Amino acid sequence: MLDRFGREINYLRLSVTERCNLRCIYCREGNDCFTAENELTAGELSRIVSQMAALGVQKVRVTGGEPLVRQDLEQIIADIARHPTVRDLCMTTNAQGLEGRIRGLHRAGLMRLNISLDSLCKERYSKMTRGGHLSDVLGGIDAALACGMNLIKVNTVLVRGENDGEIDDFIRLAKEYPIDVRFIELMPIGRLGEDGTRRIPNAEVLAAYPALKRLAPRCPCQPSEDYAGEGFRGRVGFISPVSHKFCAVCNRVRLTSDGHLRMCLGDNTETDLRPALDGTDQTLGDTIRAAIWNKPRGHHFETLFHSQRAMNRIGG
Ligand code: SAM
Repeated sequence: MLDRFGREINYLRLSVTERCNLRCIYCREGNDCFTAENELTAGELSRIVSQMAALGVQKVRVTGGEPLVRQDLEQIIADIARHPTVRDLCMTTNAQGLEGRIRGLHRAGLMRLNISLDSLCKERYSKMTRGGHLSDVLGGIDAALACGMNLIKVNTVLVRGENDGEIDDFIRLAKEYPIDVRFIELMPIGRLGEDGTRRIPNAEVLAAYPALKRLAPRCPCQPSEDYAGEGFRGRVGFISPVSHKFCAVCNRVRLTSDGHLRMCLGDNTETDLRPALDGTDQTLGDTIRAAIWNKPRGHHFETLFHSQRAMNRIGG
């Protein structure tokens, strides 16, 4: 469906949990602790996806928190895959524990994966994620490739003073493997991102690699600008929500795991769907339609924006 600015909204980012097995330095803060208490059930998620699909959603990305912490993730994926109009079903994950589950998820209907990976150095990976295992991520990528998943994307957030010495290594990944590596600018969500001094604008990275040439986008609404060098098997993408706003072509909405529709990462407005979940499908559909219609024109990252939720609670 269209919002009031004429944008066609056809992409749902579905957060299935706020819980995460990692505590990345820019994402989670302090000693926050999350439980499954307020999570929508698989049945509730499926009902909302049905309504969204009826309103024109064709792409669903499962995210969190960390989706893999949900034991019923395979069921959630299978329920979404049953909707014939959902043509693209993907997941964003930190890949801890992915290796043992990828086959089941693929069988359930998962089509594509975005894997978050901020360092290729074991010690730095563990430091940036506060406890993650790089070997799990690499094992997860291998297992996904082995079970025939194509279009695996690696998402990397560059943080000045942490992983900015590894840009060459990440670009080499896209050269040697059929993997797209995307550099995502650190957003002002969470304390580290709100301190703009740690953000590395993507233009700064790109300027250092003149041999990378711009490619046509894989799809018209993608937020990344893609590049590759001679002989690359994958692409290098730049997602620049802070330095290059792409709100005018934004086609997405987010559902938080506690049932709030959030129209924009950089705008705190949310619509609680839980009361509507107690009503008829008509009520639920009308509530979703009204929320989409009122999607804000754009994010507020350029002002002193403060997100009322950390990224793991929104669904990054
Ligand atoms: N746990 C999953 C994962 O790690 O991919 C999914 C949730 S995580 C919140 C989704 C993505 O949000 C990750 O790629 C993470 O790097 C990104 N992210 C979190 N906080 C961010 C921030 N302040 N700026 C940019 N990206 C951020």
